[in-house]
Amino acid sequence: MKLRGGYNLKIEGRPGGFLDKASLPETLYLPLASRSFNFSQICTVHGRHVVVGDILARDPDNYDIPLLSPCSGQVDLESTTGHVVLHELSGDESGVQIKYDDAKHAHKMGSADFERHKLLNLGAWEYVKDAYTGQTPDPLSTPQAVIVSTIQLEPFLVRGDVLLEASLQQFTRGLEHLQSLLEYQPIYLVLPKIKTDISAKIKEHIRGYAWVKTIDVPLKYPYDNAAILSRHIGLKRGDGFIWSLNADGVVAVDTALTSSKPCVERVISVAGPGAKHPLHLRLTAGYPVAEIRKRYAQKHAVAVDGGILTGQLLTDDIKGISVDCKGITFVPERQSREFLAFVRPGFDRQSYAPCFMSSLRGLFAERLTNSVRGEVRPCVSCNFCEEVCPAGITPHRLHKLIYQDDIDEIERSRIDLCIECGLCSFVCPSKIELMHEFQEAKGAIAKEKAAAAKREADAAQQTDSE
Ligand code: SF4
Ligand code: SF4
Repeated sequence: MKLRGGYNLKIEGRPGGFLDKASLPETLYLPLASRSFNFSQICTVHGRHVVVGDILARDPDNYDIPLLSPCSGQVDLESTTGHVVLHELSGDESGVQIKYDDAKHAHKMGSADFERHKLLNLGAWEYVKDAYTGQTPDPLSTPQAVIVSTIQLEPFLVRGDVLLEASLQQFTRGLEHLQSLLEYQPIYLVLPKIKTDISAKIKEHIRGYAWVKTIDVPLKYPYDNAAILSRHIGLKRGDGFIWSLNADGVVAVDTALTSSKPCVERVISVAGPGAKHPLHLRLTAGYPVAEIRKRYAQKHAVAVDGGILTGQLLTDDIKGISVDCKGITFVPERQSREFLAFVRPGFDRQSYAPCFMSSLRGLFAERLTNSVRGEVRPCVSCNFCEEVCPAGITPHRLHKLIYQDDIDEIERSRIDLCIECGLCSFVCPSKIELMHEFQEAKGAIAKEKAAAAKREADAAQQTDSE
């Protein structure tokens, strides 16, 4: 498979293969809003005692995806704004089988619909996204294809091999469950192009699965991106949903459909150059961020929810790990600013630009901090952003068009193809927040289109009534 652009960052702080289990904290803080969900419909009451798998809230805009209680405890809806807090937590119930109420639902729907209903209500559907939009697909729809990735190339998110080593059997069983939900649509399994023990084991396990097509992908960021892969496979955006999920999602499918258990545990990475010991951690949603910070972060470090390129700053008002958190990245905080540092290239920092003296050292794991070292300045037309862009668009041109507020030309320049991988922002020597600009511009265009569609619908309604 020939893919364009891409770039591998070499930054210190990658989590090793070790998987630790977090002990049960005193209190869980479940955020009602996360990057993908807004659990605005509360389904519990203050003071109620809940057990593992009880539904605490739902997201009415995402097919009623539930926020599940990860363990037994007492609900507190009053002490922390924007969170369901659980006190008096009891025991590790991850081994307890929760019997999904088969009888209640089974007679109302066919078996495939029943299984999809189960995936939704046992918390497995939150792992499934549409490859092109990143939105949650309709659980009752039939996709044109499914893309399952076993690799994760953005630093420093959970490594697929770590997850798979711990649950290879569940993974292959989960693939079978996914296939049972389809008619004839293929499942594309994304594997690393290099030979690894785990990819050899997976290939061995899926031998004879004619419905699985493997795709060997070079280990270069962001070649694991589902939208990029869909384009290369030839799956069209308008031909229906393309379910995309990672190894943890397939394991969750197995947990829900084989064991009828709620998917309340997840594995996240706690990594980055500001982490004391980069590692993988098994925990539940709601685990206190303060506890993670205390145990695993260096003294002056900012926390990012997600990877180093696409993550978002974890602000102080977020008290617990959200249901869709894939990792916490700690980045050392620079207390002082290096004035005009961009004119002082050094040995100790790597740059995409070959003019830095570090290029003489070859590839090395660089220090990374949140300092921009006085580099913010106008575009210098170096073309680096275009070189690394995997979507084949011209970020520097888009940046100029956004500056001119030329919406029509921005659309004609195919901003819609941007997958928001963040590489353009990373390599830009002027430290222009290109990806952020594109996210805002796409949002503004979508809003404008929705408003135009509404105006048109209102006008049609008006004509009908006349
Ligand atoms: S323009 Fe979009 S797809 Fe291209 S590098 Fe930037 S963020 Fe990635
Ligand atoms: S990388 Fe930055 S400075 Fe270079 S062309 Fe792109 S926007 Fe301009």
